[in-house]
Amino acid sequence: MNVLNFIGGEYNSPRSGQFLNNINPATGEVIGRLPDSDAVDVVMAIQAAHRAGEKWSKAPARERARVLNQIADRIEARAEEFAKLESLDVGKPLWLAREVDIPRAVLNFRYFAAKLLTEETGAFDSDGALVQYSLRQPVGVGGLISPWNLPLYLLTWKLAPCLAMGNTAVCKPSEITPLTANLLTEVLREVDLPPGVCNIVYGRGETAGAALVQHPGVPLISFTGGTDTGVKIQQLAAPHVKKMSLELGGKNANIVFKDADLSAAVKGSLRAAFLNSGQICLCGSRLYIQEEIYDDFMKQFRAQVAALKVGDPSSNDTFIGPLVTSEQREKSLRAVAQATREGAKVTVGGRVPEMLPKELLGGYYLEPTVIEDLDHCSDLWANEIFGPIVTAQRFKLAKDAIKWANTSTYGLSASVWTRDLSRAHKMAREIEAGTVWVNTWAQRDPRVPFGGVKHSGVGREGGDHSLDFYSELKTVCVAT
Ligand code: NAD
Repeated sequence: MNVLNFIGGEYNSPRSGQFLNNINPATGEVIGRLPDSDAVDVVMAIQAAHRAGEKWSKAPARERARVLNQIADRIEARAEEFAKLESLDVGKPLWLAREVDIPRAVLNFRYFAAKLLTEETGAFDSDGALVQYSLRQPVGVGGLISPWNLPLYLLTWKLAPCLAMGNTAVCKPSEITPLTANLLTEVLREVDLPPGVCNIVYGRGETAGAALVQHPGVPLISFTGGTDTGVKIQQLAAPHVKKMSLELGGKNANIVFKDADLSAAVKGSLRAAFLNSGQICLCGSRLYIQEEIYDDFMKQFRAQVAALKVGDPSSNDTFIGPLVTSEQREKSLRAVAQATREGAKVTVGGRVPEMLPKELLGGYYLEPTVIEDLDHCSDLWANEIFGPIVTAQRFKLAKDAIKWANTSTYGLSASVWTRDLSRAHKMAREIEAGTVWVNTWAQRDPRVPFGGVKHSGVGREGGDHSLDFYSELKTVCVAT
């Protein structure tokens, strides 16, 4: 399953002739290769995007919306192909790709098509002396850089509003998961999207990604990925004064009060900690339980974690597939070893599973892991592990839970489980995070603002925020 760059509507090998291997995390086998692109390929894609932008930026909104809906239709028609490739590339359970990733990609295009058609900008009458109004105009070429954990979901979350607003795009998907981006290029050729409006260049971040970020002809960068990378990208882009959206890492608190619906809280916390093998920026990897229910909660939680099936991502009963790379698994195993060294208890999991079928032995599996009694000073509370690992701790009062939640340098999201509505509102106000869920986790309507505070990011996307980011609002002031 080899992949080529998609530039100006055509497939191109990288000019250098260099390729990277693509590995199936479920088996450790090489399943194909992808371009190891450099600045030359990126510049070709940017030039194609500029050429296509001349017409696309002037295409009527109805036409852009029609094409976006065509893309949604074609992804929907090929949903099973997309889901299988996403599962193969990331190692995520096939049912999860079917239920979440692919339907969300369809919704991203449909939502921004509809948004485009219903969009209004204001006019202001200044006491009869002036009429002022706003024009929403494209920014230019968008550089869209996405990670490996939700490849199609996050690529389309950027691409749909970018194209809707009349921009063209150069996308740089993660070098670890190129397959659904590649299938998307087939879809783009099946619809009426003019060549060059969307270009996709594969390769490593420090070469292809950095070339995109540093190019003066790309005035907008939308990046989702790790905080360290986000910092580098800000530095690289700074001399060019670009529009930037940074969706970065998270180390999210999941707080359970003694009055919570216990079984709903256990079930929700389990999903929050372990969905996609804990490789979601929003994962509730820090569990804080009020002391009166700690033992009851943890008894149920440990039993349910131990029962989660680890294994073949294509089986319907698998909840935990492999981690995406051997490096991710090593990082998780190092965290478990550190916790043990620091005197914490690993009460569930913590090991590479032994009972896997022969064909999966080369895959990057890890048992879902619960760590308890971790020292308050351990940096494992602070650093994003991004694996199937949760740390659990008792708290006494709401103010203690708020204090623990806010000790993190991250501020992406948090969950609070309680039946006390006024406490829920107070917690939501006090927790430093872009999103606070109450009695749920990771529900996200495309209309709501999404983004992080502190080291979890800069800016908001979703709804009008996406329109604002992917366009320039120009004010026209007319003397009457
Ligand atoms: P990463 O930062 O390593 O890579 C993300 C993308 O950036 C990749 O396409 C990569 O090639 C590119 N990149 C790397 N270095 C670059 C550079 N110097 N210049 C330009 N591009 C560069 O992240 P990852 O490991 O792919 O993804 C996991 C991280 O993403 C986690 O930290 C996770 O929390 C975060 N994430 C955040 C959100 C969010 O919405 N806040 C969503 C998903 C994932």
